[in-house]
Amino acid sequence: MGKLFNNEISPELLDELFTNDEKCFEFLAQLKWENGFTCKKCGNTNACAGKTPFSKRCTKCKTEESATNGTIFHNCKFPVSKAFYIAYHVCKKNDDISTYEFARRLSLRQMTCWNFKNKIKTALNSMDSLTENEKTAIEKILTS
Ligand SMILES: [Zn+2]
Repeated sequence: MGKLFNNEISPELLDELFTNDEKCFEFLAQLKWENGFTCKKCGNTNACAGKTPFSKRCTKCKTEESATNGTIFHNCKFPVSKAFYIAYHVCKKNDDISTYEFARRLSLRQMTCWNFKNKIKTALNSMDSLTENEKTAIEKILTS
């Protein structure tokens, strides 16, 4: 999660990520496997392409791992590009955008945005690397 927005993302890439689901999967896959693939189940480092976009499938035990597996975007009920938009604004920019505003911008239900914000909150709270200031800022955004 921290890793996700650690690097500066160019405005051009952001535009793509906010509108293109495939691009999000590609981006997540790049981050996830930047040091190569290791199967979570058997430790094998060889993989082929899996069924979903940019997923990988272990060549030994056939366990498949999607690009979103282990991220807050896993099992997301709405387009990952929209989830990405929310996550980016909450985590990276500390924008004070209410869930109503997210809902309006992304044509989603307010409840959907609220639920996803809570998911981000849980993920962020489980991170140790955040400073107290960052935690306070995130808390403020997420409760608005
Ligand atoms: Zn395996």
